[in-house]
Amino acid sequence: LLQLEGVSVRFGERAVVDSVDLAVAEHETVCVLGPSGSGKSTLLRVVAGLQQVSGGRVLLDGADQAAVPVHRRGVGLMFQDHQLFPHRDVGANVSFGLRMRGGGRGRGSRSYADRVAELLELVGLPGAQGRAVASLSGGEQQRVALARALAPSPRLLMLDEPLGQLDRGLRERLVVELRGLFSRLGTTVLAVTHDQGEAFALADRVVVMRDGRIAQAGTPLEVWQKPASEFVARFLGFEN
Ligand code: ATP
Ligand code: MG
Repeated sequence: LLQLEGVSVRFGERAVVDSVDLAVAEHETVCVLGPSGSGKSTLLRVVAGLQQVSGGRVLLDGADQAAVPVHRRGVGLMFQDHQLFPHRDVGANVSFGLRMRGGGRGRGSRSYADRVAELLELVGLPGAQGRAVASLSGGEQQRVALARALAPSPRLLMLDEPLGQLDRGLRERLVVELRGLFSRLGTTVLAVTHDQGEAFALADRVVVMRDGRIAQAGTPLEVWQKPASEFVARFLGFEN
């Protein structure tokens, strides 16, 4: 579904993303792991079309995305700081995701409302349409952001630290829920986290980044059993 070929992003002299090759198959969940500043968010922004590349190609379904604008890529992105509209209610935030598609023409407000209700049910917030965003807990807000990202039924869902602001207990529960949700919906997911437990629980495949490069890619088991380098081993928390 997604292929990155030699993708680089440079800011001045510095390559923040450096010749990255990565493929994500349909229905697969890939988690990108790595320390702060290793280029994870930049990589997602490239795929979404929010960040220009300095080199390389991004292909979706085999088609080069160089000339394809953000809203035509059919990808959903949930940002690191989730960026909900605090002054609008939950329903308005979720239906924004539907309108963003640009394909909203011809859809009546009735079907919007149905779809919003369905999405809120999906993320475990049934009936929350009328609630003020500011009155929700952090975890509830992240669910709303997830519903908004899922709204246009993206062919690729990208999540940047989806559970970043939550406590460990809630994270662990939500990871299990998310995994179930994605497998039921058949969603293809590219997620970023710096929490290895989260990545290992969520992913079919993990990609470990270091200074803009891929240090290792493999199934969680492969990476866990055979870290490719001392850096990966240390990042996973092995003492040596
Ligand atoms: P974190 O885990 O902290 O979210 P990250 O892996 O997502 O980190 P990125 O946000 O991709 O890291 O940033 C990678 C590096 O690129 C950082 O050092 C950042 O300061 C730098 N960077 C990102 N955007 C720009 C920009 N527009 N101009 C200059 N430098 C940038
Ligand atoms: Mg980031």
